[in-house]
Amino acid sequence: MKRIGVMTSGGDAPGMNAAVRAVVRRGESLGVEVYAITNGYKGLVEGEIHRLTSNDVGGILNRGGTMLFSARYPEFKEKEGQLKGVEQLKKHGIEGVVVIGGDGSFRGAQSLSNHGFPTIGVPGTIDNDIAGTDYTLGFDTTVNTVVEALDRVRDTAGSHGRVLVVEVMGRDAGDIAIWSGLSSGAEAIVIPEKPFDINQIIKDLKDGFAEGKNQGLIVLAEGVMPAAELVRQIQEVDHTFNIREVVLGHIQRGGQPTARDRVLGSSFGARAVELLTEGKTGLCVEVVDEEIVTNKFDDIFNNLKHEPKLHLHELNKFLI
Ligand code: ADP
Repeated sequence: MKRIGVMTSGGDAPGMNAAVRAVVRRGESLGVEVYAITNGYKGLVEGEIHRLTSNDVGGILNRGGTMLFSARYPEFKEKEGQLKGVEQLKKHGIEGVVVIGGDGSFRGAQSLSNHGFPTIGVPGTIDNDIAGTDYTLGFDTTVNTVVEALDRVRDTAGSHGRVLVVEVMGRDAGDIAIWSGLSSGAEAIVIPEKPFDINQIIKDLKDGFAEGKNQGLIVLAEGVMPAAELVRQIQEVDHTFNIREVVLGHIQRGGQPTARDRVLGSSFGARAVELLTEGKTGLCVEVVDEEIVTNKFDDIFNNLKHEPKLHLHELNKFLI
């Protein structure tokens, strides 16, 4: 294999640039030319493809976002769009592609592979919601960003005797809420994977105030409900709290990747190129017990299941 493409797709995640850099530089060391496909599947279909050299990826390791840009392009779900993509790749002499993205991006990658085009996936999403891997690229950075924000809002909540309901990202997964909540000593962590008891939350908050705490922090995963709705439900049962909602929003996606995400991105990117040169396709690189492993897209979609670390959610209940 002499020429490959690399693209980022779906939601951006810190560490994607580290993966792109590793694809280019590991590729060069294996004698493979690397081409950038910008703006995800939209750019692929429209032929936004250009050569990337080792020099071009200098100075991006420490930058958040993605230098290849990203886009949502629902047209790629249709066979017509996918075949146009394959046509573009062939036109540029590209023989394999690395797709860095989340679940939706992997479905696009699987379709390329099913059309006979060698494709390897790299899990890049802050949500940590891909089956078969302990961690996705960007999750660690996002958790650290959220923890910093929670430390800040706790300061202000404490100055006013307030309860704050902080909504964090994660789509349908509670991982960001669990990790950031445990790291910040949240009085409650509300996640989609576990039913919650509003009366228990209210009791825990009241017990906390009775024991001398001067604030309460509830970390709410966006997949459960909006923060304003949880505030409303709490007030419906007990209107004595001084309670507000905070929605952290896109601040969670930006910023310099942590060392962990840089290491993960570098390891994922390098392994993805190696797999292409070994003639592999239809696989995703993942990390299990600190080892880089591979799983088939098919297994990721159909046989493996993402489970957040629920023991950490349980642990938090003993520590509030
Ligand atoms: P993420 O990759 O972060 O999950 P999306 O779900 O938005 O983000 O998917 C990113 C892109 O992947 C979509 O805009 C589309 O171009 C492509 N995609 C999503 N689902 C499919 C699918 N079922 N088949 C082919 N391509 C898909």
